[in-house]
Amino acid sequence: MSRTDAIGAAYLVCAILFIIGLRRLSSPATARSGNRLAAVGMAIAIAATLFDERVLSFGWIVVGAIAGGVAGAVGARKVKMTAMPQMVALFNGVGGGAAALVALADYHDTVGLPGHVEVRIIASILFSAVVGAVSFSGSMIAFGKLQEVISGAPTVVPGQRFVTGALAAVVAVLCVILGTGHESQALLAVTMAIALVLGIQMVMAIGGADMPVVISLLNAFTGLATASTGFVLSNNVLIISGTLVGASGTLLTQMMGRAMNRTITNVVFGAFGTGGGAAAAVGAGAVDGQVRATTAEDVAVMLAYARRVVIVPGYGLAVAQAQHNVRELADQLERRGVDVRYAIHPVAGRMPGHMNVLLAEADVPYPQLFEMDDINPEFPRTDVSLVIGANDVVNPAAQNTPGSPIYGMPILKVHESAAIVVLKRSMNTGFAGIENELFYDPKTSMLFGDAKASVASLTTAVKAV
Ligand code: NDP
Repeated sequence: MSRTDAIGAAYLVCAILFIIGLRRLSSPATARSGNRLAAVGMAIAIAATLFDERVLSFGWIVVGAIAGGVAGAVGARKVKMTAMPQMVALFNGVGGGAAALVALADYHDTVGLPGHVEVRIIASILFSAVVGAVSFSGSMIAFGKLQEVISGAPTVVPGQRFVTGALAAVVAVLCVILGTGHESQALLAVTMAIALVLGIQMVMAIGGADMPVVISLLNAFTGLATASTGFVLSNNVLIISGTLVGASGTLLTQMMGRAMNRTITNVVFGAFGTGGGAAAAVGAGAVDGQVRATTAEDVAVMLAYARRVVIVPGYGLAVAQAQHNVRELADQLERRGVDVRYAIHPVAGRMPGHMNVLLAEADVPYPQLFEMDDINPEFPRTDVSLVIGANDVVNPAAQNTPGSPIYGMPILKVHESAAIVVLKRSMNTGFAGIENELFYDPKTSMLFGDAKASVASLTTAVKAV
């Protein structure tokens, strides 16, 4: 077997491991082993690539691998679960940037060669360069917004859609010029610079509530840029893994878009999160009505005598790390014969699947977790909805207030249950920065305090009922 055949065979094994790994990520029960399989696949891919005869010296590769490996390992250990989306944005951006830089280097190698450069190669180089650059700068802005280094509010330039369209058009025209025989490294650098501005401009205009869609879209971009780099380098494993990331990112974008009532065109060209360019503050105004504060003892009585309780976890549950306490409370209620269910909104928390991961950590039985579409018809038959650290995902403004930044986003309809108890620390807004009329509903009572302490005192109080 030649060296090339051996590398090809190793890549085939990697591709199979990636596909099985991805498949296993679709359920919390198999996700860990899926992640491990994919990691093994990646290790084999790296080792096989190092055997490629085109690798002439290992010095810089070793330096890069150590720097990247240490950063990844420290990041994975130190970064808190709640900061994971920023980390994903950062990693995604680095991937896009790498694809763009490889494209630039390839162009440098290719343009000097005598003879005609194949259109297939030049098109792949241009695609990687542009899409990788957009993904890099867009992801860095997404990171800044999630880390609150820059404001999460949409920053919209006058004529936002026109500017986005014009920048995209200029990039497209420059690509056509470069792709039709006009060889110029300087022009490619200018094209990439404009693509970087396009990425910044696109993501700056996006409101906080729409950030999940943009992160998964940029993830798809990085995957496609990587696949394209694979064509340039004739590297099958890059093509396969890039395509897997591109396809799964695109599907995730569509699913998230559906969950938040956004179209992909809106994502690319709209100043979304702003109602199409209108002031972001619409719907953020004060709500009339009175807020009723309650005590753990009063809530415990309601819960203990309820037939059905639906627990709605949100970002605050992750901040408080109250998942184990919630499980304990649920166990206590079930012992009393209460039917306990968990309602999972697709964008609750700060990353897709955030609530599933948290609840799985506390070994909450998977059949008790209900997706939004399955649980919504059940709320009118629910005695108490216990909203723990969730805010935007239960905000009726999404249904009732045209012009609100979250108008049109499907929500968990907790307001249809007989009683609602909200656990949070204050009257502060959630990620979208808007008031929540649910808190002023006469059926709602507020149990103020850190979610972990509140849930623990509820459990104690339920035991005493
Ligand atoms: P929100 O961000 O709307 O609200 C969380 C609430 O938790 C806050 O109002 C806060 O109120 C409360 N809270 C924070 N810390 C604690 C604590 N220690 N104890 C008790 N309460 C606490 O969360 P949701 O999950 O409802 O909505 C998610 C939002 O994030 C959506 O707007 C979504 O679009 C966005 N998003 C989602 C992503 C995803 O992929 N899932 C990614 C990025 C953004 P207080 O300060 O008063 O305690």
